[in-house]
Amino acid sequence: MKTFIKQNIESLKTSATLAINEKTKELKSAGRKIYSFGFGQSPFPVPDKVVSELKKNAEKKDYLPVMGLNKLRAAISEKIKKDTGIEYPKENILITPGSKEGMFLMHLAFKGEIILPIPSWVSYEPQAKIAKNKVHWIHTDRENNWFPTAKELEKTIKKISKKNIILILNSPNNPSGSKCKNFKELANVIKKYKIIVLSDEIYTDITFDSKYESISKYCPNNTIITGGLSKWCGAGGWRLGFFAVPKKHSKFLKTIKSLASETFSSVNTPVQHASVEAYTGNYEEYKNITTNILKAVGKYVYDNLKSNKILINPPQGGFYLLPEFINKKYKTSSDMCDAILEETGVALLPGSEFGFSPKKMIVRLSYTDFNGGEFFENCKDDILIDDKIIAKFAPNVVAGVKKLSIWAKNL
Ligand code: PMP
Ligand code: GLU
Repeated sequence: MKTFIKQNIESLKTSATLAINEKTKELKSAGRKIYSFGFGQSPFPVPDKVVSELKKNAEKKDYLPVMGLNKLRAAISEKIKKDTGIEYPKENILITPGSKEGMFLMHLAFKGEIILPIPSWVSYEPQAKIAKNKVHWIHTDRENNWFPTAKELEKTIKKISKKNIILILNSPNNPSGSKCKNFKELANVIKKYKIIVLSDEIYTDITFDSKYESISKYCPNNTIITGGLSKWCGAGGWRLGFFAVPKKHSKFLKTIKSLASETFSSVNTPVQHASVEAYTGNYEEYKNITTNILKAVGKYVYDNLKSNKILINPPQGGFYLLPEFINKKYKTSSDMCDAILEETGVALLPGSEFGFSPKKMIVRLSYTDFNGGEFFENCKDDILIDDKIIAKFAPNVVAGVKKLSIWAKNL
């Protein structure tokens, strides 16, 4: 039969993150013991007060303005100012159904080419491809914490020459769990060549051992910031994100607003009202407790997995790690993930989904397979989260790491 699918998206498949989530659930309901290290979702409940605001506003049924609820945009503008010191006025903030949608509309509107570091989150490249934006990859290495150096960025920009460019940066990073340490140097190159950086700050509120860090501090006029409630507030399924643009690029935002108006119209009204509470209330304690738990669990996984067969960099934020298995047994990281799932029940995602060569035996591990509500309730009093506590409240993480580590020893 003649295909009626566009050629540039004919090979598009369900996004690997969402596919592994569904596969894991199917295997579990078929009775298999699975360690869900594939999908990346906050394990913590949404703070009570935010949930009660959602309930209170459930009857609000009218459409909101395309750009979003004014109060919410003002609250996000304040938050950005507080975190980064940079002014993104509310007029320059669009509320989106998840930050993912804002990024997608950006690709649709953008005339130019995209630079992605390897590794990069699974959806960046497919979104660029759907919008027919050419992607240029920058190879990074473990020694540089999986972020590009200024020199590497400059070399890639020079290759692209006169075209418009957007670089996408995400720190703390999905999938590596690493933090970018050279924002200033990268920003100098960004300014020199007048490119745009999309700073994906969806995990920045979950940074271990330091405050909120954003590249916008060094190149505010070139930085678009995206973020939302999915990670720090445990509300992935609420689909609430934002897209903040510097004043200089207001025209670009106007076009993205038009795209929003022709696609999702406006984001779900009760969720926007509840989000005002999330961005104006004081959730420092919630953030501290959840971040401390993630930090302790991440360190546990790192300490118990790294060996002469598994290389990993220490976790610095978010909830992922990027273990590399030293072996010549498998042809691709995807084959290796299939074997691991079959032989141990541990679900992971192959590095090839994040831009790595399929031959590199690297995988993404999400250490969120625990009951976040229970863990949270038991960590309220600033207790030291040691191995005993982790074994009690994150037994699946402990058992899965053990399985994985034994599996690697037998390689
Ligand atoms: N960026 C990164 C790096 C992510 O891991 C995710 C995962 N959800 C997103 C963006 C999109 O988040 P959301 O659409 O839920 O705001
Ligand atoms: N960000 C999550 C992950 O990387 C999944 C959510 C999504 O893909 O939209 O696993």
